[in-house]
Amino acid sequence: MSSIHITLPDGKVLDVPRGTTPAEIAQKISPHLATEALVARVAANGEGASGGELVDLGRPLEHDARLAILTPKDPQALEVFRHSAAHLLAAAVLELFPNVKLGIGPPIEYGFFYEFLRQEPFTPEDLERIEAKMRELAARDLPNERKLLPKAEALELYRKWGQGFKCELVEEKATEPMVSFYTTGKFIDFCRGPHIPSTGRIRAFKLMNVSGAYWKGQEGNPQLQRIYGACFYTQAELDDYLHKLEEAKRRDHRRLGIELDLFSIQEEAGPGLIFWHPKGGLVRKLMEDWLRDELLRRGYQFQLVFTPHVMRLDLWKISGHTSFYRENMFGAIEVEKADYQLKPMNCPGHILIYKSRLRSYRDLPMRLGELGTVYRYERSGVLHGLLRVRGFTQDDAHIFCIPEQIESEIAACMDFAFAVLRTFGFEKYEVELSARDPAHPEHYAGSVEDWQRAEGALVSTLERMKIPFKRMEGEAVFYGPKIDVKLIDAIGRPWQLTTVQFDFNLPPRFGLEYVGEDGSRHQPLMVHRALWGSVERFFGILIEHYAGAFPAWLAPVQAEVLPVSEKFVDYARKVSDALAEAGFRAHLDDRNEKLQAKIRDAQLQKVPYMLVVGGKEAEAGTVAVRHRSKGDLGPQPLAEFLAALRKEVESRASH
Ligand SMILES: [Zn+2]
Ligand SMILES: [Zn+2]
Repeated sequence: MSSIHITLPDGKVLDVPRGTTPAEIAQKISPHLATEALVARVAANGEGASGGELVDLGRPLEHDARLAILTPKDPQALEVFRHSAAHLLAAAVLELFPNVKLGIGPPIEYGFFYEFLRQEPFTPEDLERIEAKMRELAARDLPNERKLLPKAEALELYRKWGQGFKCELVEEKATEPMVSFYTTGKFIDFCRGPHIPSTGRIRAFKLMNVSGAYWKGQEGNPQLQRIYGACFYTQAELDDYLHKLEEAKRRDHRRLGIELDLFSIQEEAGPGLIFWHPKGGLVRKLMEDWLRDELLRRGYQFQLVFTPHVMRLDLWKISGHTSFYRENMFGAIEVEKADYQLKPMNCPGHILIYKSRLRSYRDLPMRLGELGTVYRYERSGVLHGLLRVRGFTQDDAHIFCIPEQIESEIAACMDFAFAVLRTFGFEKYEVELSARDPAHPEHYAGSVEDWQRAEGALVSTLERMKIPFKRMEGEAVFYGPKIDVKLIDAIGRPWQLTTVQFDFNLPPRFGLEYVGEDGSRHQPLMVHRALWGSVERFFGILIEHYAGAFPAWLAPVQAEVLPVSEKFVDYARKVSDALAEAGFRAHLDDRNEKLQAKIRDAQLQKVPYMLVVGGKEAEAGTVAVRHRSKGDLGPQPLAEFLAALRKEVESRASH
């Protein structure tokens, strides 16, 4: 029998008989590896280290190759695992509902789905039965077996079975004469694979919901029912996921926005347009005050600007937005036979301010900052609370500078971005640098030197500031490289926030110049930067991050004063007046309600402090302090409470 050479990831070479399977090799390496193994990656000897194809552990190896045995530690294995869970779902559904027609069943971010055509909708009770059947089939540890059939036979098989969608897939996707199939119990699927060897290890899963989806996602095609499932290696991971999902629901800013009376979206006014109610408006004012103060403190003196909401359409032709940004813009408005455009961006406005007079190198860097409201067309289907809207206010700035200034300007932007994270209570973040695709310089505005200098400056600034970052090759937009900062919220979700972006497109389009030290004209560099992105979106993120319980410095009401009975309303009023005089936002609950009910309402409104006052407190000049999450803090002299609250607010403590 001839033998083949199998090279393992550590460089070791095994001499094995032709036809040996990865499972057998795993067993040879260690019995532990064999029990952990899910799938194998096989690469021809000449291929790069990351290349190779995933194959079943039971697939015989016919040639010399490099082989990696993948276990749950490998991210690629999880997709295979979840794909096998999708097959398990289909197998269970076929047992219970033998007449369904099958669509597709891929792995997804948190698990899997499979599509079925069935007249009646799947009910929650059906899902329970299906899940129970999946557990039964998993416990039987059914093998996932691969079979090859000639294409004609495969089509015949599906035709006889009445699986029209599968016939369609075989017709379209089977490019080779032999077609691969996988069977799990009675379920047989046209599938490239690979799969895990058997169903026994699929234990930590839960069917989540059913939703309608057109076949191949195309309107007009038959509507299938997609059953979604969450699936992880371990129950602990699944529980963690389900817990986060619950938390996300509890924190949903759309629900909290109503409960806490922060904002609304009015159908009468149109979708994606935000109404800030007094309490939300107050939080916004506090956020904006902080931002404007920081802008001025950080050297943006006298450079806060305001620009019109509507400008001539011609301006957007010069900027190029009418071509590359057309589909995100509202339609033009005609006034006195000229077309005007609701602004989708603030950049051209700031450029016009720059261009309003001849600039010298001594005027640079010029940093123009604006809380600028823009309007963008988003399809109604993608609108989402405060996070995806049609009208929003960007905390926008544009920096015009000379090449020698870019590093310090970028460093200042990053420093400001981290101040945002700290101030608003975020501890974790991720930074990404989007670079151009070096193979296609023709896809980009600006010269190769411009790009190299800009990317170099971004990298060296991040390195000098010791900020870890991920380099995203080929991810830059056509007009310049950028840095993105994603914050990670209280339940581990990433949110794209700060952007620092070079622009090699707009300066030449608008003919921007400055007079250099040499007396001749040069083109300035231009950088767009936004810290929050938009006030609306950042507010939405804050609501979810804090679950509506804003820290004292941002809370619309900082203290609720609660007299234990009507008898003590006078003293309660004195307390709330003292708070107001000291500059705090206090509210007196003088309703004729039981104390317990008042406390409950203040808790539901997530007011940081409740000050309960009765006879004892009136006599001693104290307040009984209750904190929304720490509970009862006992009696304190009023002056002492005021001093402590002042400290908490001034330090912008985040909890
Ligand atoms: Zn499949
Ligand atoms: Zn801009």
